[in-house]
Amino acid sequence: MFPWGDHRRINAHSLRLKETFGMRVQKLSVDAGFTCPNRDGKRGAGGCTFCNNDAFNPSYCQPEKSIRQQLAEGIAFHRSRYRRTSVYLAYFQAYSNTYGPLDVLQQRYNEALSVEGVKGLVIGTRPDCVENKVLELLAEFARRTPVFLELGLESCHDRTLLRIKRGHSFAEAEDAIRRAQGYALEPAVHLVLGLPGESKEDMLASAEILSGLPVRSLKLHQLQIIKGTAMENEWKLVPQDFNIFELEDYVDLVIRFLERLRPDIAIERLAAEAPPRYLAERRWGGLRYDQVLKRIEDEMEKRETWQGRVCLRQTVASG
Ligand code: SF4
Repeated sequence: MFPWGDHRRINAHSLRLKETFGMRVQKLSVDAGFTCPNRDGKRGAGGCTFCNNDAFNPSYCQPEKSIRQQLAEGIAFHRSRYRRTSVYLAYFQAYSNTYGPLDVLQQRYNEALSVEGVKGLVIGTRPDCVENKVLELLAEFARRTPVFLELGLESCHDRTLLRIKRGHSFAEAEDAIRRAQGYALEPAVHLVLGLPGESKEDMLASAEILSGLPVRSLKLHQLQIIKGTAMENEWKLVPQDFNIFELEDYVDLVIRFLERLRPDIAIERLAAEAPPRYLAERRWGGLRYDQVLKRIEDEMEKRETWQGRVCLRQTVASG
């Protein structure tokens, strides 16, 4: 039995959700029509070099449709495939979903919660889009329904953030995480392994940096080069600067990352799964995410290791 109370070698977020809601929970993506400050000129105009929101948006998810309609279509889609759930979370995923006037944010979140079966919100955004008044609004929603704040960090290293034209610093990310905690909204963070110029040591150091922050959960992705992005051009010019991992190499890196990660940080994802038609470079022979996750957990078993095994901070309070 591990510190998170079960026999899996990672602290799986899905189990925590099941405990909260009493059954399997399905997230439904919503494109609520927001943009982001790295596209509209406030911080930048061309966006992050890896960005192509189409690569992860499901087909029913289009901003021309109302939020209610997107969620209704999402529920119908999932109901026909997975009959085991009737609990849904509205996942405001595309672009920056706290980037707008407060009354607009409030109206859009309320619209999602008015759909039958939607029992909570997942709000994806950037660290520079969570001013205190936004956190106050989210905290207000959190008093009546589960709210999960998801911050895209991508890297813990400023030189990487500059290179991928992220338009914010790591200090801003750290500040956003700490302020979110002040509103009892410990965030999930999103990180990419393999970004240009980062060594494996840099990536492993990120696990230690995150372990010192009040982070509730983590989504980890391997770098995938998406067709048509600025990053695709850069990768063609200087491929040696990028880490496009083979599966075995990635499994090894993720395990070493997890060993350094605080055990109470719940794991939401450990790899990305962009549709193959978007990928400039295909790897891993079309393995599905659940198969990749199984490889990682099987290898952890073989190595007799677990999340947090060599982490010096076992809880955030001890840091
Ligand atoms: S990845 Fe997110 S923050 Fe970056 S340009 Fe795309 S939508 Fe904006």
